[in-house]
This record gives sequence, structure tokens and C-alpha cells, in this order.
Amino acid sequence: MSDFWTNLGRKVNSVSSSAAKKVDSLTTIAKLNLSLREKENDLEDCFEKIGSLVYDKIKKSYETDEEVAVCIDEAEKLLEDIAKIKADLRRAKKTKSCPGCGKDSSVEAKFCSVCGAKFEEPAEETPSDAVTVTEETKE
Ligand SMILES: [Zn+2]
Repeated sequence: MSDFWTNLGRKVNSVSSSAAKKVDSLTTIAKLNLSLREKENDLEDCFEKIGSLVYDKIKKSYETDEEVAVCIDEAEKLLEDIAKIKADLRRAKKTKSCPGCGKDSSVEAKFCSVCGAKFEEPAEETPSDAVTVTEETKE
């Protein structure tokens, strides 16, 4: 009978240690997923940079070519529209772009969650009803 309890004790121990290992590997997976996502985002940014570098180069070397110039005009207009839409989107999503890394953070955020840059006080388009009343409440 005592063997039964000893064996049970061993079994419980081995189960709990394998559960701990499982949690360990889950944390590892979460960490790996996180760094994978970070790297993928960085790669996307990198591709974007390459894209605009190539675009700028082509723009300079083909400025005299009329057909290309027309396309460049169109692209310039599109870029303007995209910038406007992105600004609207940020306003709608209540996010702001980090001056340091360009990633979006919540408007209320004081620091960038990506690079840690400190945000200046929101100067752009503060709604008039958000004006804080400080001294006037005193009588
Ligand atoms: Zn940032």
C-alpha cells in the first residue's frame, strides 16, 4: 500500500513539472511570436523605405520624360490624398503618429509604446469643448 502512495507522489511530481515545462514553452512561443511580429513589421518598414527611395530616384531621373511625368503627377496627388486619409484615420481612431519612429499610439499616450519617445502636448486640432477649466471653479 505504501508503494501506491510513493508512486502516486512521484506521478504528481512528474505531472506538475511537465506542466511547468509546458507553461515555459508557451512563454517561449509567445516571446518568439512577439519578436517575429516585430521583425516582420521592421521588414515592412524597410521595404517601404526602399520603395520610396526607388521612387525618388526614378522621379529625379525621369522628370523630363512626359509620359512618366504624368504618372508621377498622379502618384504625387495620390500620395497627398493618402496623407490626408491617414490623418483622418488617425483622428477617427484617436491615434497619433510618433515623431520618432512614425508608429501610431493612442492620443492619450504620453510615451510611444514602440520607441519610448515622449510625446509633446497635443497641439493639433484640440476640440474646443475639451478646454480645461481650472481656476474658475473657486469662489
Ligand atoms: Zn515611436
